[in-house]
Amino acid sequence: MKKVIIIGGGIAGLAAAHVLSDFCPEILIIERDELPATSETRPGTPQAYHPHHLTPRGRMILEQLFPGLNHELLENGAASSLGKDIRFYYPFGELILPEPGNDAACSRPFLEWHIRQRVLSNKRIQVLDATTVTDLIIDQEQNKICGISAISGNTAIEINADMVVVATGFHSRLGDWLNRLGYTIPEPELLTTNLGYSTRHYSAPSALTVPWNLLHIENQEQPEVPTCVVSIMEDNILEIILGNIGGMYPPTDAEGFELALALLDNPALNDLLQQVTPLEAPRGYRIKDVTFRHYEKMASWPDGLMAIGDAFCTFDPIHGTGMTIAVMQAEMLQKTLQHTGVLSPSFGKDFMQAAAKIVEPAWWMNAVADTGHPQVKHHYTAAQKGLQFAHVFIEQTLRFAVNFQQPALFGLVWLVRTSFLSPRELINLQMLEMLRKAGLAGPLDQLIQSGEVSDIQYWHHNLCPDIPDFGEELFIPREVLSKQ
Ligand SMILES: Cc1cc2nc3c(=O)[nH]c(=O)nc-3n(C[C@H](O)[C@H](O)[C@H](O)COP(=O)(O)OP(=O)(O)OC[C@H]3O[C@@H](n4cnc5c(N)ncnc54)[C@H](O)[C@@H]3O)c2cc1C
Repeated sequence: MKKVIIIGGGIAGLAAAHVLSDFCPEILIIERDELPATSETRPGTPQAYHPHHLTPRGRMILEQLFPGLNHELLENGAASSLGKDIRFYYPFGELILPEPGNDAACSRPFLEWHIRQRVLSNKRIQVLDATTVTDLIIDQEQNKICGISAISGNTAIEINADMVVVATGFHSRLGDWLNRLGYTIPEPELLTTNLGYSTRHYSAPSALTVPWNLLHIENQEQPEVPTCVVSIMEDNILEIILGNIGGMYPPTDAEGFELALALLDNPALNDLLQQVTPLEAPRGYRIKDVTFRHYEKMASWPDGLMAIGDAFCTFDPIHGTGMTIAVMQAEMLQKTLQHTGVLSPSFGKDFMQAAAKIVEPAWWMNAVADTGHPQVKHHYTAAQKGLQFAHVFIEQTLRFAVNFQQPALFGLVWLVRTSFLSPRELINLQMLEMLRKAGLAGPLDQLIQSGEVSDIQYWHHNLCPDIPDFGEELFIPREVLSKQ
């Protein structure tokens, strides 16, 4: 393999370039934006103004791919989680989750800029910025990728390559490009989230000392009340988001935003707001639906083509999984290539199938969480059984963990929600019995009795057959977790 083009220099594109550079001497990242010299939001990633949190798995993989990254972020001004905790507030109670490590918390531009510096210091990787790819070039006879067409400045250009990785993010045009070339695109799977975010940044005094790293304030009993997440980034800047799904968009004007915060009536938040100063007006972000594009199901897929990150599947951002899935796919690419030792063009199709396996549990979890909201619908030919049951199971387990002050159980839910542990670690007969003893299993037993999920007598090895078994190899074994 002589040359790989990566379209898009976001998190997925950078991680893929880094991994592929061990197997190919010439990697070219083509990025639409002019890449800024410092850590700042750029037009191609408008979502980057909004909080971007890493899940434990995403953090773990990034550290493996870029050793010392966490330390570097901390050295350069990221907030530290050392000795802090995460505070969750629900209508049914509160829970404090200790932060065991010294993790860096920072904005998405800050994280991406640090990764980009590492990637671009690699002599095998070049970047062509301010260049928009407009089409793929395919050898139709051999069904094989040959390169791309692009507009660089005002000039139309073509660049040849043996392999092309599409990492063009949420608004990826890959489906259109393939369509124009005569490929039949599979029906995408959709979740109509109608999500709205509103984010405001605040400057905190350097003397600000709070015992927490993140506040999560949720009020499911009143669906119109947005979820609020407060987190600290680099350089003593705080970010507060109000987010909601189902078309109930949070206010994006300064006055409405502050009023919505006051209505949450949360003492920790109120105390904080006395000490911080807004830096600018809030900024909104809306997402109509999130999409699993299912390219892995295409009967014909060009050799040498891969799609990674949001170009393949997008998620509801409130679950904070998008960057994790992107780097999980890059990690899978690395492991596979380390095993086979060579980068073969036919790998494209195999990659899409393996990448889909990584997406599936996260997508399912996203559907489980969001379809609990009556306005959110799941659209696909194959209906997914068990979504409602899993939703209620997780909600009741959270309630149990909060009511009985069980941070470890709460942490388990969090790890299942973020592709670290299998859903089967959580949704099993043992947990159901625990909920029954606590008087919290009523809604679950109703669903079992109504035939929504299989009767207990059909549960195998204590596991509900309607909860998918995604394959244990996709998750981190419990033993590794206990050593973390
Ligand atoms: C509001 C919001 C909040 C989020 N919060 C989180 C979070 O807390 N945690 C988390 O893990 N994820 C979060 N995400 C998801 C996260 O942003 C994405 O999953 C992640 O950025 C995916 O990376 P990517 O490289 O696939 O896409 P992106 O990072 O979007 O990068 C795509 C790149 O491709 C470039 N590009 C596009 N088209 C072309 C073209 N034709 N030619 C050349 N270049 C092109 C773009 O300019 C861009 O640089 C959030 C998303 C949103 C919308």
